[in-house]
Amino acid sequence: MLRNFLKVSKRFIINYMSYEENYLSKRPQSLCKMCGKCCRVSTTSTPYEKLKQMAEEGDEGAKDFLSIFVPYESIEAARKVGKDTVDNILERLRADGKLNENEITFYRCKYLQPDNLCSNYENRPALCIHFPSTPWAITPPNCGFDGWLFWKREEIKQKVRREKEELLELKLLKKRTKDEETLKKIELVEQKIQRNIDMYKKYGSNDW
Ligand code: SF4
Ligand code: SF4
Repeated sequence: MLRNFLKVSKRFIINYMSYEENYLSKRPQSLCKMCGKCCRVSTTSTPYEKLKQMAEEGDEGAKDFLSIFVPYESIEAARKVGKDTVDNILERLRADGKLNENEITFYRCKYLQPDNLCSNYENRPALCIHFPSTPWAITPPNCGFDGWLFWKREEIKQKVRREKEELLELKLLKKRTKDEETLKKIELVEQKIQRNIDMYKKYGSNDW
């Protein structure tokens, strides 16, 4: 019985390697086609005015973003430069129920050169180095990372399914355990596993 518990705990520790170890360091940069689409048209979930306020208040992420990106005058202006990218973003946000056309702003990076190369490469901020920074990032159509992101999403779904099975195993184990100390340990692991499953709730982990 205890061996089962130790097995689950060990799997739990392996699964909980950091975001850097699990995702960022494994991102094959060679997949980037250097098409420049993500530099030419970008957006954020935070409205422009709020972003400026955050930058003034010292938010590093907002400061980094606004240090390279300048807003297009309108959605149409952005569409003239990257219609497929703009429409893809709008469609994804609409599907997720997150689209507010009055608040969305598109941006272009001032460092992108006509040959699609970055004139600020050595000093580009972390947001560029890490793009696409999650398996659910909205990438421009035909981004070289698309297939890899699909597999990363599948891997996470499989991990969450395994964790749900582990929760069931732990539930059974609890029924058979009398020792108070062991029960407490099991509950701690249960809580941690549940927290991890909940982290992906916004992507639909309840249904995986
Ligand atoms: S859109 Fe994708 S393939 Fe193109 S430059 Fe950006 S990360 Fe690279
Ligand atoms: S700084 Fe370079 S990599 Fe980052 S968005 Fe601008 S052009 Fe692209």
